[in-house]
Amino acid sequence: MRPQWVIGNWKMNGGLAANQALLAGVLDAARLVGSVRIGVSAPFPYLLQCQQMLGESSVVWGAQDISAEIGGAFTGEVSGAMLSDFDCGIVIVGHSERRIYHGESEGRVAEKALRAVENGMRPVFCIGETQAQHDAGETEAVLARQLSPLFVLLNDTRLAMVIVAYEPVWAIGTGKTPTPEGAQAVHRFIRTQLAAHGLADTLPVIYGGSVKPDNAARFFAQPDIDGGLIGGASLDAAEFLAIVKAAQ
Ligand code: 13P
Repeated sequence: MRPQWVIGNWKMNGGLAANQALLAGVLDAARLVGSVRIGVSAPFPYLLQCQQMLGESSVVWGAQDISAEIGGAFTGEVSGAMLSDFDCGIVIVGHSERRIYHGESEGRVAEKALRAVENGMRPVFCIGETQAQHDAGETEAVLARQLSPLFVLLNDTRLAMVIVAYEPVWAIGTGKTPTPEGAQAVHRFIRTQLAAHGLADTLPVIYGGSVKPDNAARFFAQPDIDGGLIGGASLDAAEFLAIVKAAQ
């Protein structure tokens, strides 16, 4: 049995005071539901706050992006070494909002995943098709293309550190979702892609896109869905707790 993961992606939300209350709620969730692996991906300025508040707990924390560069003259970038200074255990790479708004290429995203692993963090590697690709029946081809640079750049030992997050772009922040069975079929396909690396049965593959307390359990009950990457609902302690409980 693979463990279930529930990871909150706060995106560009929060502030010191609001985070304090939210992180207290995340700590409660971890205490109440010890069997679920809980993660928080916070904006860079709040990683110290995460480290201070979550340090003694089982909750893992991390950033929402990492530089593909190692260091030097890259204004605005944050390196893997800097993230590990704050004991980050996870980092999101290749979220569709970064691929779309910041032009991150498939190769670049895989380089970021490599930097994460080199610095001891698990990359939460986001893949997913757009509505147009979905409608054109291209989902599997798109996902295979997004995964392939990862298989080139990371050897199988490094690949074992990855958490794959399937996030259909059309489901993010829209309230629309695939059916749990539809998502399951896509997760099954992702596992076939991992099979050549001996990781089909072990790598966490989590689902993201409009996961809420009222639909979470149906996604998490699918055999190839190992939890969720939660956007909007991770900003509300009660909703996040309900989603964590659904993963139990
Ligand atoms: P929502 O849960 O707000 O749809 O966001 C999903 C997401 O993008 C998580 O990374």
